Amino acid sequence: MKIRIDKMLSNIGLGSRSQIKIDAKSGCIKINGIIEKNSSRIVDTEKDEVNYKNNTVKYIQYIYLMMNKPQGVVSATEDNYDKTVVDLLDEKDKFYSPFPVGRLDKDTEGLLILTNDGVLNHNLLSPKKHVDKTYYAEVDGEVTEEDVKLFEEGILLINENYKTLPADLKIIESGQESKCYVTVREGKFHQVKRMFLAVGKEVKYLKRISMGAIDLDETLELGAYRHLTEEELKKLM
Ligand code: URA
Repeated sequence: MKIRIDKMLSNIGLGSRSQIKIDAKSGCIKINGIIEKNSSRIVDTEKDEVNYKNNTVKYIQYIYLMMNKPQGVVSATEDNYDKTVVDLLDEKDKFYSPFPVGRLDKDTEGLLILTNDGVLNHNLLSPKKHVDKTYYAEVDGEVTEEDVKLFEEGILLINENYKTLPADLKIIESGQESKCYVTVREGKFHQVKRMFLAVGKEVKYLKRISMGAIDLDETLELGAYRHLTEEELKKLM
């Protein structure tokens, strides 16, 4: 593909075109090893090697990552107190300014998608789209068939006059401590924990295992991530 350098670099998210122009003038851009001060020069993204501030830049506009989020990090790009999921990324991926699609609580583990694609982010989070999110939950208290029915009918969240959409609750093990899968179709703040609280139970451990048609790659260690495959990406689009 043939594209102006300033457009290429700004599309990737490295700065505005006017900033790139200034950077070019100060010698921050090299094409095939030679400093290029003209930011409107056209490059061939397949043939030319573009280097910006000492990083070789490959023209990919969008980046799509799957992380197995560990506990103790926040789903944000920056935070004054805590480590963020973006802090767990390699510099070469941070370069594309990915952000987490939605939030998992600090103490929730599991599937988190990070991207710089605002359209995908919107499509996955829009309340109108009702993308399924499935969690594995360990709960203090006995989860019963009555709870399954209540979740199916939608739960009135405590302190908020809002009834959730129907949610699927599947009991894996029930006892003083129960294990289950929950699928919700919206993303209210602390939704799963609050749904259980509304039926008198406390979530002790929560892990997201799928989002839309994407399942967590269980081979990813906590804190590890990988790029989505073409196939996974197709399922999300
Ligand atoms: N529901 C919660 O309560 N917490 C999460 O992190 C995600 C869903």
